[in-house]
Amino acid sequence: MPSSPKNRSTAMADVSIYWFRDDLRLADLPGLAAAAQAGHVIPVFVRDPDLGDTWRIGSASQWWLHHSLLSLRTRLAEQGLELILKSGATVAALSALAAQTGATTVYCSRHYQPWAGALETTLKERLSKQGVRLKRYPGTLLHEPEDVATGGGTPFKVFTPFWRACNRRPDPHQPVPVPELTPYNGLIESEELLDWGLLPTSPNWAFDWNDLWHPGEAGAQTALTQFLDYHVQDYGDGRDIPSEPNTSKLSPYLRFGNLSPRQVWHAAQASKLELPEAVGSIEKFLSEIGWREFCYHLLFHFPTMPDEAFNPKFSFFPWDDDPERLIAWQRGQTGYPIVDAGMRELWQTGFMHNRVRMVVASFLTKHLLLNWRAGEEWFWDCLLDADIASNACSWQWVGGSGADASPYFRIFNPIAQGEKFDKAGAYTRRWVPEVADLPNKYLHKPWEAPDDVLSAAGVRLGDTYPRPIVDHKTAREAALSAYGTLKSLD
Ligand code: FAD
Repeated sequence: MPSSPKNRSTAMADVSIYWFRDDLRLADLPGLAAAAQAGHVIPVFVRDPDLGDTWRIGSASQWWLHHSLLSLRTRLAEQGLELILKSGATVAALSALAAQTGATTVYCSRHYQPWAGALETTLKERLSKQGVRLKRYPGTLLHEPEDVATGGGTPFKVFTPFWRACNRRPDPHQPVPVPELTPYNGLIESEELLDWGLLPTSPNWAFDWNDLWHPGEAGAQTALTQFLDYHVQDYGDGRDIPSEPNTSKLSPYLRFGNLSPRQVWHAAQASKLELPEAVGSIEKFLSEIGWREFCYHLLFHFPTMPDEAFNPKFSFFPWDDDPERLIAWQRGQTGYPIVDAGMRELWQTGFMHNRVRMVVASFLTKHLLLNWRAGEEWFWDCLLDADIASNACSWQWVGGSGADASPYFRIFNPIAQGEKFDKAGAYTRRWVPEVADLPNKYLHKPWEAPDDVLSAAGVRLGDTYPRPIVDHKTAREAALSAYGTLKSLD
């Protein structure tokens, strides 16, 4: 545990700023540890309304950001530091803060969003004119994107060799502990978190999220420990069953840096020793962390990935433009229970199970022939873990246009997916109560149920629950035919 600030030497005069970004934690933050070594630390978070342009933080993620900042503020206060909140252009805000406080260095974690490199360069130039240094540290990935390359020195475009190459590298560094921080004694004006309006108000659609989620470092550690203690052994076989708690739900913590991937990696390695029978399952889990790395590797090398099809042929794909169908998908009113269950889970909890994300994404791009960008944007707004790299990469993977993508002609059958992965129907019944009383045989295809079965279950198709907005077989053929139009471009 860090000692009380009162016990610390006040002889150190150097003042530095730690610029928090998507790394809202104190442990395993190499840049913060370096700042702590250098002297007094001013922790700051800048809310830059222009950063990211179309990829400005979405509504659900704002909720997580608010609570992560609250948690960080409390953690810093325990060491006598105030988290300074500033709004406005990042470069101007940080340069003004350095000028006001006499800080000699700004420390931060390196970021990889398409705009991050340019921002860091501009900031470095501006600060250096004031005689202030910018020091960037790794902290959000296991391996820096430039450190993993093919034999020919080019970026990987296929996951398996990428992850193999990562695993051939030296193990990720051990997490660094929470540093002892020395507060800066001068007065700095901070904005009020509540004034930022990050929480929904009218209506407050997140009214029960405090019962579901615990953003911040403590919540992250609890989620990691519980997963490794109780669920990881079932991960390998059970990760595709959306009604079971077999996955870690660590994604929002990783997205906001409440937890570092190095902490996850080392904790998982330790679990291998304690649970030798679960090694296969743990490796599978780590390979999913590997997918997160891969998405960032791709984003770093191909920064247009969130906005443009990775496979340029897909810019000519004959996407449909049907706002009504898009709304039916968004609201979970497609008439396919597993799809509707996923979309409602997303709306109500800010999360959706990975298997169901694949099903609903396939349904949007293949059954409805709607552009993957529309799904990417909806997820961006609704997901607590909305992550520019993983979201873009996954949407392109399902839509068929991505690097190492699922082939376009692999069209998920929403009935078969429901019957296979939600066989007993617990997940679908929970999110689509209108069909909950149907027997399993018809749960994933209510339109095939005889009238007496529908009536016994209180289902009136087209009234209490929609008829399917597209016919599976017809939609599949239409998708294959639309895909066929790209073949002429080979
Ligand atoms: P676990 O299975 O426990 O996995 C552990 C961690 O590995 C996750 O927390 C996550 O950080 C990472 N991970 C797992 N699967 C993937 C994957 N396929 N790609 C990248 N990283 C992965 N994940 C996001 O974090 N943010 C997104 O915006 C996002 N959008 C997605 C959109 C679509 C259409 C699809 C199909 C998937 C998307 N994913 C996204 C990936 C995946 O669905 C989530 O990471 C996962 O469901 C989170 O649940 P978990 O933490 O229980 O995962």
